[in-house]
Amino acid sequence: MYGFISAYPDGVIDNKYYTISRESISPLSDAYTEAEFEKLFASAKKTLTAKALLATEQRIPGVGNGVTQDILFNAGIHPKQKVIDLSDGQKGVLFKSLKDTLMAMTSGRGRDTQTDLYGNEGGYKTILSSKTWKNPCPRCGSVIVKEAYLGGSVYYCPECQKIRKI
Ligand SMILES: [Zn+2]
Repeated sequence: MYGFISAYPDGVIDNKYYTISRESISPLSDAYTEAEFEKLFASAKKTLTAKALLATEQRIPGVGNGVTQDILFNAGIHPKQKVIDLSDGQKGVLFKSLKDTLMAMTSGRGRDTQTDLYGNEGGYKTILSSKTWKNPCPRCGSVIVKEAYLGGSVYYCPECQKIRKI
């Protein structure tokens, strides 16, 4: 699923997606602060990983599997990193990467792996995707790893995105 528009009548609607999106703050908004992002960690289970945090359960509106790859790459964080083991510094870097990466994708009118309603590719050059993962890591030249994980593929650089354990 790439996206959809749902129209609802006025009044109380018992729909999980409607309720979540009404109550969520866009990560592109200035109102989405680091303190807001921190709340995700406070409610996280011990087993929650970085990909799960970003791309499942609609914790951050608009963020899914596709955009998660570049957010984690830019932050230098492994998709299977347990978020409980992230340092405060890494959380700060992840927050900044979330904002900066989404902003770059938005200002580029989307990723180049997708097309708009008129068939035009987005202007954002996707770093890690099914089209690019066979290229060497753009930062260190290592071979990018592709794995199936949590309902979709993850792509990561084993050198730039090492798992941190406490
Ligand atoms: Zn690398």
